[in-house]
Formats: sequence, C-alpha cells, structure tokens
Amino acid sequence: MPRPARHMEAVGEALSIKYNNVVYELQEGGADVIVLSLGEAFFDLPLHSFDPLPRPAIFHYSHSRGLPALRGRLAGYYGDRYGVPVDPASEIIVTAGSKIAIQMSLMTLLDPGDEVIIHEPAWVSYVEQVRLCHGVPVTVPHDVPVGGLEAFVTPRTRVIVLNYPNNPRGAVLGPDDWERLHGLAERHDLFLLCDEAYSDFLPEGERFVSGGLGDPGLRHTVICNSMSKNYGMSGWRVGYVIAGAEVISQVLKVNQHLVTCPATILSHYLAEHFHDLLEVTAPQIRGVVEKRAEVARELDRLGLEALPGSATFYLFVSIAPSVLGSEAFCTRLLAEHHVAAVPGIGYGASCDAFVRVSVGTESMERTIAGLRAIRTLIDATTPAGTGPPRRVAAGGER
Ligand code: PMP
Repeated sequence: MPRPARHMEAVGEALSIKYNNVVYELQEGGADVIVLSLGEAFFDLPLHSFDPLPRPAIFHYSHSRGLPALRGRLAGYYGDRYGVPVDPASEIIVTAGSKIAIQMSLMTLLDPGDEVIIHEPAWVSYVEQVRLCHGVPVTVPHDVPVGGLEAFVTPRTRVIVLNYPNNPRGAVLGPDDWERLHGLAERHDLFLLCDEAYSDFLPEGERFVSGGLGDPGLRHTVICNSMSKNYGMSGWRVGYVIAGAEVISQVLKVNQHLVTCPATILSHYLAEHFHDLLEVTAPQIRGVVEKRAEVARELDRLGLEALPGSATFYLFVSIAPSVLGSEAFCTRLLAEHHVAAVPGIGYGASCDAFVRVSVGTESMERTIAGLRAIRTLIDATTPAGTGPPRRVAAGGER
C-alpha cells in the first residue's frame, strides 16, 4: 500500500488547535469548560448588510494580489498608523489568513536545507511550516535574549522569524532591538520574517514598532499580518504579506497555485467597512489589554508567575514546580477542573514548564476561577518539601 511522504512524520499537530478540538467535543457533550485556550478575543462587532456589495463580482474570483480597494486600505493602515509606506500595487498581497501568508512567504524565501531561526516561545506553526518547506528550524531557548540571536546564525541561515507582539508571552521589541536586528540582517544577508498579527494589542500610550520601520524600501523585511486578531474576525480568513516588490511577485505565484484569492465577498465587505471596523474594535482592544494587566495582577496575588510582557491577550504562566510536563498538566486541568489552557511544549522544547492562558474569551470571574484551578493543580502535583516556586528566568524578556 502506498504511504504518505516520510517528511510528514516529522511534522506535528498544532497543539493549541488539538486542545481546542477536545474543548469543542466536551462542550458538545454538555460540559461547562472555562476556555483559556482559544487564540482570539471575542469582540462585539456589527454585521452590515451584504446587499449593497457589487453583484455579480462578489460571487467570483478576484485579483490574486487581493482586491485593489482592500490592498489600498491595508497599505494605508501600515503607512498612517505604523509609519511604514507600502505601495498597494506591488508591495502587498492579501490572502486567506496570515497562517498561509507565513507559509507562502517561507516557501518563497527558502531552498531545501536552509535554516530558519525561531526564538521560543514560538507560535505553534513556525517550526512545522519550515519543515513543510524542507527547511531546517533552528530553535532558540526562551532565556536567550533577542540580542543573542546572532550566535545562532550560520552560512545556511536565510530567515529569522520575529513575532512581536509575541504569542504567547506578550513581549514587544523597541527601536533599539529592531536596529540591531536590521543590522544583523544586512550583515548576514538574510530576511526578517515579522509576524505582526497582534500589532494593535499594546497597552494604552505604547506605540507599536513594526519590523518594517527600520528597513525603508523593505529590502530584507517580510511582514505578515492578519484581520483575525486586530479586527476580531479570525473566521473570515483574511491575512496579508507586505514585502519588497520582488518577494511579493514570488509570493503571488504561490498564492495563484494554492489559494487564488481570499473570499471575494468578504474582501468587498472589509474594504467598504474598514474604517468603521477600526473604530469599533479600538476600544475593545484597549479593554482586552487592560484585562490582561488585571489578570497579571491576579497571578501575582495567587503566587503564579509568567514570562514578562504586557501586550496581546496571552500570558505564558509558569507551572513549576509541578512534576508534570505541560501536556500532562493541561490534560489533567481539563479532565479534573474543566479548564482549558495550551501546553507550553507547543511553543518549544524550552517551554515545558509553562502553559498559555488567553484572556480573550471568558469573563474576568471565570478567568480567575481558571487561574485558581491552575494554582490548585500545581500545588497538588508538587512533591512535598519542594520549597517555593522557582523564579522565572527573566533573561531577554521584555
Ligand atoms: N501568527 C500568530 C502569532 C498567531 O497567533 C496566529 C493565530 N493564532 C497566526 C499567525 C495565524 O492567524 P490567521 O491565520 O488567523 O491570520
């Protein structure tokens, strides 16, 4: 009997999605689960009529760089909001979510055997996406500072993946960090792949620094972003790549062969209501980032620790000194307490003493109940006489 390709054996499941599937099954069976595992914030969004959208165009394929009107809006957003000028004709492509945008970018940038530096904790798909491109993921433990990444560069390094604001720890980079990274990219002739999916989830008064800001002309920077998080519309599957015209013209070919275009009707809708949506989501984003800060204070009160960070709606919570690995911990948390969190091991081998908690979907009260369950399970699985929890290494975290 024929068998699937051997290289697929090295590709793992997305742990966050795997756990959320268990949650959906439990919920279908009538269980009341406190869901701290979902990677999104639930906003209250208006739904305008689709009737005024142009017919028959909405029923058909559209431009494989993305609907010009939507490209214009997104390019304007990067220019006006983040100070990164983007030519909508040649430097952006809109596709079906940023997950495929990242995959298509990697396919465009990597030859087989090329190395990609991935700093942990790293979103669950980078390593597997690199493997799907026949590239070699080079993971860097979480306690190495960003300034230490250069030590991992070899002559085969083609890409460094940078995800700021970071999922799962909520860290951001400042202008000095970016200056160093752009210098490194120039010196070693490599690309910075900047996943900016949470670009608006910063605390009040803090300004998002895009990876594109320090690279006028986008010579070595490839930015992936999404309408999933900033607009609270993950199910609509709209994401985009911003890069120099040469890279975009290569991504375009991949898009034409794999995706064609994002849903045309949704592209028209989003272009039409772009600015309204920004207005509606802005205060809700602020609310969820404030909630994150409140949850961080609650962690303190419970004697729980998390890697430092203040952005996004995630906290990467330490489960040390529990004897359980993060998968066993989350499995028991779900089975015994009906609380869902994502095992840290999904974010890298250096992260097995953590779980990811999202504050985007549950009320404050239920979120706190979930944190208490984490505290209880840590206490129940800590060997007697094992002193206070070890402090989380702060090296390089921001
Ligand atoms: N990047 C990061 C860091 C994410 O957390 C996610 C989704 N959780 C994505 C990319 C992909 O998002 P989407 O495909 O919905 O745009």
